[in-house]
Amino acid sequence: MPEEPQSPEHQAVNVYGQSDMAAYTRTLSTREVVFTCVRCQQEQREWRYPGPLPKYCPSCKQQVAEEREALRVQNQRERRQAEAAQRRQRNI
Ligand SMILES: [Zn+2]
Repeated sequence: MPEEPQSPEHQAVNVYGQSDMAAYTRTLSTREVVFTCVRCQQEQREWRYPGPLPKYCPSCKQQVAEEREALRVQNQRERRQAEAAQRRQRNI
């Protein structure tokens, strides 16, 4: 993927005060942040709105999500097998 120069995006956010009415509207700007992916240890550069830094680069984030899903499916399968084994034992 070629690296194109990006310019900050702007997003208007309503900031709420004591009342339910928006006290004022603040404009958040993206800034370029550099962080190290905890998984592949690659340094990442991303334009982000202010907030906590991400832990994973986009590709690792995708993989982590897939692994988590695979683990969930595996746990479910093991639980079902354990239950089936228990049922078999009781039938002896
Ligand atoms: Zn990564």
